[in-house]
Formats: sequence, structure tokens, C-alpha cells
Amino acid sequence: MSTYLLAIDQGTTSSRAVLFDTKGQLLASESESFTQHYPDNGWVEHAPTDLWQTVLHCCQRLLTNNNINASQIAALGITNQRETTLVWHKKTGIPLYNAIVWQDRRTAAFCESLASPEINQLLTDKTGLLLDPYFSATKIRWILDNVDHARELAEQGELAFGTVDSYLLWQLTGGKVHATDATNASRSLLFNIHTQEWDAELLALFAIPASMLPQVLDSSAYFGETDPALFGASITIGGVAGDQQAALVGHACFEQGMAKSTYGTGCFLMLNTGKTALKSNNRLLTTVAYRLNGVPTYAIEGSIFMAGATMQWIVEGLKLLRHAGESEAIVQHVPVDHGVFLVPSFTGLGAPYWDANARGAILGLTRDSGIDTIVAAALQSVGYQTKDLQKAMEKDGLRPTVLRVDGGMVKNNWVLSFLADILGAVVERPSITETTSLGAAYLAGLHCGVFSSTAQLAELWECERRFEPKMDSVTRNNLYTKWLHAVAQVRLSNTPNTL
Ligand code: ADP
Repeated sequence: MSTYLLAIDQGTTSSRAVLFDTKGQLLASESESFTQHYPDNGWVEHAPTDLWQTVLHCCQRLLTNNNINASQIAALGITNQRETTLVWHKKTGIPLYNAIVWQDRRTAAFCESLASPEINQLLTDKTGLLLDPYFSATKIRWILDNVDHARELAEQGELAFGTVDSYLLWQLTGGKVHATDATNASRSLLFNIHTQEWDAELLALFAIPASMLPQVLDSSAYFGETDPALFGASITIGGVAGDQQAALVGHACFEQGMAKSTYGTGCFLMLNTGKTALKSNNRLLTTVAYRLNGVPTYAIEGSIFMAGATMQWIVEGLKLLRHAGESEAIVQHVPVDHGVFLVPSFTGLGAPYWDANARGAILGLTRDSGIDTIVAAALQSVGYQTKDLQKAMEKDGLRPTVLRVDGGMVKNNWVLSFLADILGAVVERPSITETTSLGAAYLAGLHCGVFSSTAQLAELWECERRFEPKMDSVTRNNLYTKWLHAVAQVRLSNTPNTL
């Protein structure tokens, strides 16, 4: 009997395999971290074998430890770190180079050399993205231009490009499938999100042969069967989505206006905009949220670099706490309007500022500011940055009707109360906070008929706690205005005032 769904979540620092029952309840999980490689300043790589072997071992351990046969798995779903780029030989499956990770900045100079108002406009119009090393296109080009014979082989049709989902599909199916889904394709800078096709003009712009590209399927689709040698019997692969999109699905944000925000190391806020690919005038990205039955649903996305990472700095850098979990108790009695602001622009500011030169600061200190105030300011910076994204969305004419949250930080009730207060919006925390894996399982379950519709998934979604805004609007506006002043200070820090 096929009674389980299996999700693979291949992330930036670890791989996970998660087992769900056919009602979407989490039963068990396995995870394994792997080495990050930093071969040069601003370069970040993963060994392809690490990505594959950690995934394989997690899946195998999950089945063995829970006494489950592959034949009991109704379907498998994959979710993955997005944009990270691999190129391999079609005949042998051997990668030409390490995976170039989304964080890698090696193509920054190339992006600067290519940038012009016309090119930037073209890219935003077709892909919904910005010209930035973050996305896959310039990473593929780098491999073709820097690995011996790569371009020659690519032009002869011998090479395959894939994001991590594609590479795992290739490995899982024993080299039979070279495919991806529309959410992952939409992060490449090569995919036209309106026509849902690879774009010849963009391929020419980045000098990438079309023969390298994977076939683009729906997020819930038949992606093939796993090689029976891997798990003792084959398993149908029925779902694929990039991690942030999978989280949106896992939160059952299927209606226009529903939003999710994931508070891990960084923060990614994604708002479902329905069947319309809305263009942001406020430097938010337009992306494919998911594609079902050939119909894309779109989203607007904003990312913040430092969310939980600010707490890591408080713990590991300043050593103010032993672990991030201590923060909730220490700030319990700190009033939210204590007057101290921590702007965590340690590596610049993400959306909507996109200011690479801003650096971090703590402003408004007085003699009575203690560890508790600084920790509170660090936690509040996550709320204020989310407010920045909310404001940008509002300027684009959008207002989330609901914000569902996940990620390591959302255990902290104080953070979520402040978030609801500063946004003036309800924040919902689900019972299952493994939302990314759940989204992959949902997509796989939709394909194999375990779930009949997104409406059924929306009913399965369970709220563990709702945080209602309690702050009055005068206090909210005062606090946010002070935050904006603090941000203005860090953005001026590179250009000292010469009075
Ligand atoms: P990622 O998936 O990006 O590695 P996680 O979703 O596992 O991150 O979240 C871990 C982050 O959450 C860490 O940066 C940590 O500082 C933060 N964190 C964990 N628990 C708490 C807490 N109780 N309060 C505030 N931050 C927390």
C-alpha cells in the first residue's frame, strides 16, 4: 500500500529527507550537512557529489530507520536551494565544475559590464528579475568560459545545465531525465515567465547554447521514476519547486493576496499575485509561484539578507547570549519603543534598497541601554525589514491579506507579536513549520492523486497560533519613521558629510 509521501529538501548548508503521511502530517526526517567551499573572495561552491550523496543517504536512512519500503511511497517531491548552477556531461553525468552557489559573486564584474538601461529593462520585462550574479545565467556562462573545452562541448550538444533539482532528477533517474520545473526555471534569467519558454534572445545575450537546457515541466508533474537500485524499488517523482516557492505551497497560500515569510538565516517574503505577473516599481522580483496544469501562478518576492543571521552575530560575534533561544526571555520586559535601532546591513541591504555599500549600525544608545535592549533591537530589525517589504508592496498596489511564517526564528513569540504590531497585520504560525518540505510533498501528492486539489490542501493547513496586531497606529508610525531614519544613517555612512 502506498501510504507515504517523501520530500527531499536540498538546502544551502544541509540536505534533508522528510516523510509525511497522506494527510500531510510529518512522521520522520533525516538531515546531513556538507562542506562549503570558498575558493576565492566572494566565491561559494558545493561539491556535486556532496549534494547527491547527502540526499541519497538521508532518503536511504529515512526508509531504513522507519522500516519503510520504497513501494509504500506514493510519490517523491524535490525542493532545493535555488539558482545554484551545475553543468555536467550528458553521456557520463560527470560535472565539469563544482556547483556555483547562489551566494557566489564571481560574475559581478561581468554583470556590471553588461548592464545598460535597455538590457536591464529587457531582463526585467522577460524574466521579472534583475541583472545580478545571484541568478544562474552568468554562472553558466562563467563555466563555459573558464573550464577547458567547455564551450566547445556545449556547442556540440554534449553538456547539460541544471539547477540542483535538475541535477538530483538526473541522478535519481539514472541519467534518464533532464528536466526542471517552472519555478526553478524562473530564477535563471533565461526563462520568459510570460511565455513559459526558454528565451532565444536571452540565451544569445549570455552566449548559452539551447541544447544545454532542461525541459521545463509543471511543479506537479511526472518527472520520472527513481532508479530501482537506489531504494530497492522505483519511486515516482511527482513534484519539484524551488525552496521559497515550495514554502508558499506548504503554507497553502493559493489565493491572490496571501503571503508567506520564511525567517531562517535570511528572510524571503513571497506574495501570491494570482494569474498576473505584476511588475514591481520598487525593486521586488516577479517570479513563478508554482505552475499547475500548464497554468502559472505568479508571485512578488522580497529578500532580506540578515534575519536569524543577526541573532547568530549576537550569539557568536558579541557573545551576548549562549544561544538564540535565550533571546525571548531576555526581552520579555523591554518596551518596544526603547529608542535603540539595530540596522543589520552587515553585507549591504537587500530589497527594497539593494544597497551593497551600506554597513551595520546600532543607533540611539543611552546609558541605560543594556544587553536586553540590544537583543530587542536585533529581533525588532527583522520586523522593521519586513515592514520595508510590506511598504514596497503597498507602493506597487499590493497588500497581503495574511502573512504565514516559518523558519527557525518563528519559535520566538515576542518576534511574531512585534511583527504583527509593526505590520498592522495578522501573522499566522502553522503547526508544521517544515513548510518547505511539506510544499514538495503537497506537489508530489497532487500529482499521484493523494490530494485532489489545492482547495483540499488549503483545508489541511493548520494554524498553531495567530498573532493579532495590538499596537495603535500612532506608535506604529512613530517607530517605523525612526527606523527609516536609522536606515538613512547607514546608507549615508560611505559618504561622510563635509560641512
Ligand atoms: P536556515 O534554514 O537558513 O539555516 P533556520 O530556519 O534553521 O535557518 O533558522 C535558524 C536561524 O534562526 C538562526 O539564524 C538562529 O539565529 C535563529 N533562531 C533560532 N531560534 C531562535 C529564537 N528562538 N529566536 C530568535 N532567533 C532564533
